[in-house]
Amino acid sequence: MSHEFFKIISRKDFQDLLKTFSSTGTVMVPIAEAFGMVLAEDIVSPEDLPPANRSCMDGYAVNARDAFGATESNPAYLECRAELKVDQNPEFRLAPGECAAIPTGGTLPDGADAVVMVEHTHELGAGTIEIRKSSAPGDHTMLKGEDAALGETVFKAGHGVRFQDVGLLAALGISQTVVHARPKVGIISTGDELVEISSPQKVGSIRDVNSHTLRCLVAQAGALPVNYGIVRDDLEHLKAMLAKAIEENDLVLLSGGSSVGMRDLTVQAIEAMEDSEIMAHGVAISPGKPTILGRSGSKPVLGLPGQVTSVQVVMLSLVMPFIRHLMGDSEAFSAKGRPMIQAELERNTVSKPGREDYVRMKITHREGDIPQARPIYGKSGLLKTMIQADGLMIIPADTEGFYAGGKISVWLI
Ligand code: AMP
Ligand code: MG
Repeated sequence: MSHEFFKIISRKDFQDLLKTFSSTGTVMVPIAEAFGMVLAEDIVSPEDLPPANRSCMDGYAVNARDAFGATESNPAYLECRAELKVDQNPEFRLAPGECAAIPTGGTLPDGADAVVMVEHTHELGAGTIEIRKSSAPGDHTMLKGEDAALGETVFKAGHGVRFQDVGLLAALGISQTVVHARPKVGIISTGDELVEISSPQKVGSIRDVNSHTLRCLVAQAGALPVNYGIVRDDLEHLKAMLAKAIEENDLVLLSGGSSVGMRDLTVQAIEAMEDSEIMAHGVAISPGKPTILGRSGSKPVLGLPGQVTSVQVVMLSLVMPFIRHLMGDSEAFSAKGRPMIQAELERNTVSKPGREDYVRMKITHREGDIPQARPIYGKSGLLKTMIQADGLMIIPADTEGFYAGGKISVWLI
């Protein structure tokens, strides 16, 4: 049975329904492949890093007390005990009044707690070094365990692996790690008017845009897109393709046919699937209201609006965070992954209360202390507003808009 009316729920409630789906299974991968994926286990440091105190500079390892208060006019004089190599483990103890020449990355001998940069020293010959700058314990040194201490949890399960994290894992000698698998996401475009992009322009037909933009955004979220092409507004065909896509994927996205018109068949197609349920139909965001959440067994199916801009906004605001959730990201729905800038709003911007607005924004002036941003208006069937946009401004459901001159946040897209 087709639903006659939307029962519109808030973005927050829609999100809570999305959160009821559990993450995909786990896999062990080499650390560089874990980049962009989410840890399925805590990472506990197997050792101290660095394993001993190290120098951050070329210079002399000293006991800071011996160089304390030294200046150009009142230098300290120390005996150079050794010239250390970068890969040497110094097996001696620095006695009072002694120093040791040390390269960047070299290990400090016992008894040394600071490094004086070579620029602030002078070799006087016969092993005597003039120290022309005062030193304090810890100066120009990395302490044992400062990057990671033995037994310390360096990353928690649910953490999205960034390139710098891969660097730490490498330094700790961890070559493989357990992450959540990238979900496979089936993508279906629906509509009698749709044609392949290779088709010549013809009045009455529309080239399939959504298959291509959705593919990009699914990949950007870290999942594996699987395209199923165009399906006509024919319930039997749609049911067959949807069943196949559900079978072969962890999540299925349909675009088009998500509203309540005669040819809007997504609800019926989902309802025809095995062990299925429509969990929500309608979300209080604009653009993007006619969005459907359904499931078949434990697999989510999302019916997205056909309008090219609406579907892009729903992808950014709901579906990509959902994909991150399926990938095990504990902060999937937070603003953490969103690059934001502060800007001054150029024009009054009104919004209908009761829905969350995603206003396309153009950054007009970047010079000066704070950039300026202007809302871009236009129909959600046009590609243009998103093409011109540098970002989105979110107007909360309980707000009627923002005044020109006010400070706003722009989510860069
Ligand atoms: P619908 O939700 O099916 O009524 O579609 C709303 C509008 O979006 C219609 O004008 C469709 O032609 C258009 N549309 C639907 N799917 C696509 C698509 N894959 N690419 C481009 N436009 C689409
Ligand atoms: Mg349609």
